[in-house]
Amino acid sequence: MKAMRLLARGAPLATCEVRLPPPEGEQLLIGVEACGVCRTDLHLVDDELPGIGTPITPGHEIVGTVLAAGTAARFRIGDRVGVPWLAWTCGVCEYCRGGRENLCPQARFTGYTTDGGYAQQVLAEARYCLPLPAAVPAAELAPLLCAGLIGYRAYRAAGRAARLGLYGFGAAAHLIAQVARHEGVRVFAFTRAGDARAQRFASELGAEWAGGSDEQPPELLDAAILFAPVGELIPAALASVRPAGRVVCAGIHMSDVPSFPYRLLWGERSVTSVANLTRADGAEFMALAARLGLRARVERFPLAEANMALERLRSGALEGAAVLEMPAS
Ligand SMILES: [Zn+2]
Ligand SMILES: [Zn+2]
Repeated sequence: MKAMRLLARGAPLATCEVRLPPPEGEQLLIGVEACGVCRTDLHLVDDELPGIGTPITPGHEIVGTVLAAGTAARFRIGDRVGVPWLAWTCGVCEYCRGGRENLCPQARFTGYTTDGGYAQQVLAEARYCLPLPAAVPAAELAPLLCAGLIGYRAYRAAGRAARLGLYGFGAAAHLIAQVARHEGVRVFAFTRAGDARAQRFASELGAEWAGGSDEQPPELLDAAILFAPVGELIPAALASVRPAGRVVCAGIHMSDVPSFPYRLLWGERSVTSVANLTRADGAEFMALAARLGLRARVERFPLAEANMALERLRSGALEGAAVLEMPAS
């Protein structure tokens, strides 16, 4: 089967022919239909994450069909499944036992420490896969598996906000804006300064105000989520939230945070991050997405054009999410 792989740190992805072993135990062999392109994949290719081992196949927003299952796997051949970022956890550490398997120090991650979905096939542990509806186009479902799911973890971490700021209006924000509007939350979107197209996109999805991240919103917010990997946005967001407001950083990597005056944090404002996801997050969010009929706005690319999709994401040219579609053979 074909895969687009990182063969050396900092190199562009290369087309490879890979042979996978048959699934064992709780593993599934999955025929990939579509795989979303996440900003984390860009951080991987740009060598911005710790401990990158090569070769590795990126991709952790995988929608596919079970082709073969190990003897202990809980899915059947032909089932449609999703493979998210969390690939495996130890099950015995204090985090795993305390309902925080997202923080398991032994955790493995799809497309980072285990091979992911920029490929025609992938092996995954059935216990970490999510059942998916067969009727929805795979490409529109794929971005839900990270942008949606980890975006939703950040949304919950923001607390009950009546006025929510979203910094960086890409794949995650365009999904979370839809969830927030559904729950009656007022959405304020912050884009790169002067990006009128992204601001229009945010307004289309229900943001009542859209402006540059260098601007102040028309009123103080209850919480803000940072999806853009830019450290300067932390003081900017703190200046936009009311006393006791929360600022949630949703990405795996961010440029250094500049120093800022303490008065921005004063007033019981807080800054936190969300890391990874738990299987419970996956089940909760996918059920919500099904109730809402949540779909991603996507730009489709054939697998062979993975490098171009990453470049479009890097340049901020995408509206919504990039998704790779797999060739049949
Ligand atoms: Zn991701
Ligand atoms: Zn653990």
